[in-house]
Amino acid sequence: MSETKKFKTETKRLLNLMINSIYTNREIFLRELIANASDAIDKYHYLSLTNDKLEKRNDYKIELAFDKDKRTITISDNGIGMTKDEIINNLGTIAKSGSKEFMEKMESENLKEEDAREIIGQFGVGFYSSYLVADKVEVNTKSPFDSSSYRFTSDGIEDYSIEEIDKDSIGTSITLYLRKNDEDNNYDEYLDQYMLQSLVKKYSDFIRYPIQMTVEIEKPVFDKDGKETDKFEKTTEVRTLNSMIPVWKKPKAEVTDEEFNEFYKNKFYDYQDPLDTYEYNVEGNVTYTALLYIPKKAPYDLYTEKYEKGLQLYTKGVFIMDKCKELLPDYLRFVKGIVDSSDLSLNISREMLQHDHQLTKIAANLEKKYVKHLSEMQNDSPDKYREFFEAFGINLKFGVYNNYGEKKDLLQDLLMYKTIKNDQLISLKEYTLNMKEDQKYIYYVSAKNKEAVLSMPQMDALKAKDYDVLILNDDVDEFVMQILNKYDEKEFKSINQGDLDLLDKNEKKAIDQIAKDKKDLLTKIKDSLNGKVKDVVISTRLTSSPVCLVSGDGISFEMEKVMNNLPNGADIKAERILEINPNHDIFKVLEKISDDDNKLAEYSDVLFNQALVLEGFPVENPNEFITKMCNIMIEASKINEE
Ligand code: ADP
Repeated sequence: MSETKKFKTETKRLLNLMINSIYTNREIFLRELIANASDAIDKYHYLSLTNDKLEKRNDYKIELAFDKDKRTITISDNGIGMTKDEIINNLGTIAKSGSKEFMEKMESENLKEEDAREIIGQFGVGFYSSYLVADKVEVNTKSPFDSSSYRFTSDGIEDYSIEEIDKDSIGTSITLYLRKNDEDNNYDEYLDQYMLQSLVKKYSDFIRYPIQMTVEIEKPVFDKDGKETDKFEKTTEVRTLNSMIPVWKKPKAEVTDEEFNEFYKNKFYDYQDPLDTYEYNVEGNVTYTALLYIPKKAPYDLYTEKYEKGLQLYTKGVFIMDKCKELLPDYLRFVKGIVDSSDLSLNISREMLQHDHQLTKIAANLEKKYVKHLSEMQNDSPDKYREFFEAFGINLKFGVYNNYGEKKDLLQDLLMYKTIKNDQLISLKEYTLNMKEDQKYIYYVSAKNKEAVLSMPQMDALKAKDYDVLILNDDVDEFVMQILNKYDEKEFKSINQGDLDLLDKNEKKAIDQIAKDKKDLLTKIKDSLNGKVKDVVISTRLTSSPVCLVSGDGISFEMEKVMNNLPNGADIKAERILEINPNHDIFKVLEKISDDDNKLAEYSDVLFNQALVLEGFPVENPNEFITKMCNIMIEASKINEE
């Protein structure tokens, strides 16, 4: 009895993409199906160690076959197989990670089909990639958890059918009926033993189970005396196509960079080579091998809640779990890789992981090693490190900030910033090494780029001193500065917060004198601003600009903006202090009108709003602001007429 079921809409869409795909890299179908077969064997093997229902076996294999006449390719495994429910849930629906993410990305970013096809490879669409080359797929499967066995058949368009079949052996066999050739596409190329052999070598060499194929070979014919003749006869032979040893089990010297990269791309569904690869073989207190990769680019979902960090965990080469999160601190969440340790028990469960001493030790050891590795990269391959930092630096920043700076000593040297003097990222150490002799602080400012910083009025005095200033780009940066507080005994100072401490004794005296003399005026301005500012002061940082707004020593404006933008944003306000340049003509104007309370209030308000705009805040009341500006202009022209 066969029953027919319809594909869900999103499955249909994905399949449709595959079927109509001109995806150049369609040969990945074989890699995907072999990976599935290998996963299925992993599952069987793992379960058989802990579940008596499954017979223990040691003849695991994946078989590859093709039939030129029928134009089929068959991939068979003796893995876990599928129950009827599993067929429906796994093949009839997009249930699995890769495909689902792919579709979600398509939807959420409204990708065009051409663009979507480009990135299929990134997601490892698994089983569905069969339809890149086939127009009909048949899956025969038997699970130890189902009394019957089944055949799933589908052309991948509207629906699929499931029927019971006779299949004695546990496992799965997938047959692809290749598409017809057309002008542009020749699918027959896959019906060739050399082609299949080379694809296995290219994509699946590290698969830990033998991938076997019966191949045709020509053998020389020997005569009666056992002498080789010049004749050949055709025979067949079963060959194992892959070398099977996982890359991390091979002696390092024998593994090429290409092999490491291929392994990475296969295992972690990336279409680009990794930025960096690192292997550790640790023996002693703990014993493990780790093969770790830094991707070139952050995966699109790295900063979403859905992203699961973690390393693949093996014990003595046997797969235990996919994303063991205990092995990676949050700030290394972008790292991909595997850890294989003989110290772990096979029966370890997710629940037990947190309390497993060996695992905790491995994690701590790995973290230290990894930070050391990053620091070596920073010193030895600065360009590569910059590329790394552009992609993942923000994670390290969070690492510094999190848990009240618990990791700041470990991570601070890995931080990099652009500065007004360096268009390339530099470390804090480089900054401090190049500080001016009389420079006490490490100055920073939040800004989009150098140009924006250089045009800030607050920069006047710093420019005169020729001090360098770190340019902060990420929301978390100012929080990082606060947590760090000091680097190499030097305090961090925002260029628009508090006292910059730039003046020498005499200059300071002079400013103090002005502040004293003009105390009444400053108080009047402050009062007229009606609580909008905490203080109005004579500026020590302005040389050419009339006014600027700075914040007190606690929360900065940038932090205020960041926190108010949080989903459940706290309504936090930084203290506002209006600074006035005593050497600017506008100050003389203020002195002149100081007896006219209305005028002083009007002028003060305009200046305050100008300072707001300079800080990237909106004008408080645009209508009122414009009216006041106009009044001032009209009056000015009257004076001229007089
Ligand atoms: P993924 O590989 O991301 O899991 P696939 O679409 O390739 O997604 O496969 C979906 C699911 O179908 C797999 O997770 C697995 O449960 C099941 N499956 C696929 N191939 C096999 C197989 N050869 N043996 C057993 N189960 C399989």
